Amino acid sequence: MSVIGIDFGNESCYIAVAKAGGIETIANDYSLRGTPSCVAFSQKNRILGVAAKNQMVTNMKNTVFGFKRLLGRKFSDPLVQKELKHFPFKVEQRSDGGIGIRVNYLNEDNVFTPEQITAMLLTKLKDVAATALQTQINDCVISVPSYFTNAERNALLNAAGIAGLNVLRLMNETTATALTYGIYKQDLPGAEEKPRNVVFVDFGHSSLQVSACAFNKGKLRILATATDAQCGGRDIDMALADYFTQDFVTRYKLDARKNQRAYLRLLQEVEKLKKQMSANSTRLPLNIECFMEERDVSGDMQRSQMEQICAETFNRVERTLRAILHNAKLRSEDIHSVEIVGGSTRIPAVKSLIEQAFGKHASTTLNQDEAVARGCALQCAMLSPAVRVREFSITDVQPYAVRLAWDAARNEDGDMEVFPAFHAAPFSKMLTFYRKEPFSVSAYYSDQVPYPDTFIGQWQIKDVQPTPEGESQKVKLKVRVNIHGIITVASASLVEKKQDTSQNENIEMENSSENAQNQDTPMETNGGNQDQQQQNGPENNQEESDDKKDKSKDKSKKVLVKTVELPIEAQTHGLSVHELNGYVEQEGKMQAQDRQEKERADARNALEEYVYELRGKLSEGETLHDFVAEDQRNKLVNHLDSVEQWLYDEGEDQNRQVYSDKLSELKTEGEPIKQRRLEFELRPGALDEFALSI
Ligand code: ATP
Ligand code: MG
Repeated sequence: MSVIGIDFGNESCYIAVAKAGGIETIANDYSLRGTPSCVAFSQKNRILGVAAKNQMVTNMKNTVFGFKRLLGRKFSDPLVQKELKHFPFKVEQRSDGGIGIRVNYLNEDNVFTPEQITAMLLTKLKDVAATALQTQINDCVISVPSYFTNAERNALLNAAGIAGLNVLRLMNETTATALTYGIYKQDLPGAEEKPRNVVFVDFGHSSLQVSACAFNKGKLRILATATDAQCGGRDIDMALADYFTQDFVTRYKLDARKNQRAYLRLLQEVEKLKKQMSANSTRLPLNIECFMEERDVSGDMQRSQMEQICAETFNRVERTLRAILHNAKLRSEDIHSVEIVGGSTRIPAVKSLIEQAFGKHASTTLNQDEAVARGCALQCAMLSPAVRVREFSITDVQPYAVRLAWDAARNEDGDMEVFPAFHAAPFSKMLTFYRKEPFSVSAYYSDQVPYPDTFIGQWQIKDVQPTPEGESQKVKLKVRVNIHGIITVASASLVEKKQDTSQNENIEMENSSENAQNQDTPMETNGGNQDQQQQNGPENNQEESDDKKDKSKDKSKKVLVKTVELPIEAQTHGLSVHELNGYVEQEGKMQAQDRQEKERADARNALEEYVYELRGKLSEGETLHDFVAEDQRNKLVNHLDSVEQWLYDEGEDQNRQVYSDKLSELKTEGEPIKQRRLEFELRPGALDEFALSI
């Protein structure tokens, strides 16, 4: 079984695989490494990836793109409303407030969620990998922007679930890049030495992500991130498209804003022009034939002009670059190097902004398009028993401050910050509550989060009862940023202290450290990144250090502690099991439909090919011409002609069986002729004889 990494980009996706010999990226059915994040629908099937992008202009209303930005959002979200203006396809509000994408598929109106559309693309990627590796694919690591919230992360996990992928980790894109950089570096400082700080800049199609990372031998620790989710290559495309739209209105009286197809073509053309401008500072032409009203248009632009038109985007880039220094508390002299990835870092203006901000050359050690996928494949290999790779410790960050609120009982403060921004992740914190009855806690992102809704989740802690003496019970909650960067209340347990010394499986030893330690601030343990534990008492500072890790303390007062797991009812983002199962089933049907359509098309092609091949070989001077009597040959050629005619007529759209029956019928006539030719060839000296006979 193979382990793969997927870079799910807004414009294109890359897949990498970890093998014994190293990491490889996988090419798709068009021999391209990048698969466009595009899903289209037709009367007969779904069209995924390259094929979908190729037919975008002619099937505009049913070609879906840009859905990475829609994951986990509500229709009413201002960002979604802004996006809608750019989509040629229909997007509507679902009854639950979510997003519905309406397309014509199998001659019917169908509404799909962004999770479903993403799942369709993921099934394509899974297929590409399975074909290239000749094995089944289940385990994978998928990249996400570091700024993704719980809602978006859950939505992507749901999409992977619909596609039948088992996600070992959702990995932040710049962290994947950092891993790709670090794993093969031989010259990293030793564990005790001052770390090497590297800044990674990923400027893609829809967003800009920067992270600062500290490397030592065998480990990396993300210090902070700075991101702009509204600043990417497409903003440049749109600014250029607006410029040319205006230009064409002035010079041709043609308004592309009134014609979606023209605007879409313009966007595609300016993207090409933008790429050319990265390599060339002279004036470059832009020509579009039959743009609108059957008229051709042309214009031109040079790099300096583009830089002026897109000044707003470049200002945003500069702001984000400066923010990383602030967020990571680094001065530019503390930075060893700046590594750039993502298509839009090829723009010279972006490189010089990087050089100005950090006083360093923008380094391209990494493959700009594949670094994220490679890092994900490496991480997948580390998490999977299937492949062995070098160990490398990864400590990521949780980008937003997270607050926990609870029903305030006994005058306690009902709200606290559990994770400050840029807190290490994954990470667990233990919080202690004293309660006599069931209670609930809710988690929220702080206001800085760039989303209208800061809600993360609410958890009901059940089965809490007073002690036999009528006192409060001690309840410990484990609040966790998990391996996907998702915040959850992972467990709740009731802690009963007993003086009893008898052995019991449910009893664990605890050092009574309540008196020994009483801290105001949360205490962090150092070391490994997995499941670090931290304890913190939201109530009266009744804090305890970790049960197991505090063995050095006062050993004289041993008490036995019985912990009982409490049931938790969670209400958070993501699909219910029931909804997920429904989507899995629907996806299965669509796959079956696609397969059936493919078999049908293949059967039609096979028949068509046979007609052409046989007729060609029967013609004068060709290989089969002399191996059948003339009248029979004429009859057969007539038959072939009529089948060809039929194929373009009523035979255009038949089911598979009809084509394969026709093929067998032709074969009963054609194959004996081929056989005679073959037997003839196999006779000694046959070809000489044949040569003499003609
Ligand atoms: P995201 O990371 O935002 O989800 P993505 O990973 O799909 O998106 P990339 O593949 O990194 O994005 O980059 C695609 C963007 O880079 C597109 O906007 C593309 O036009 C732009 N791009 C690619 N090559 C060049 C170039 N030579 N000059 C300028 N821009 C380029
Ligand atoms: Mg990207």
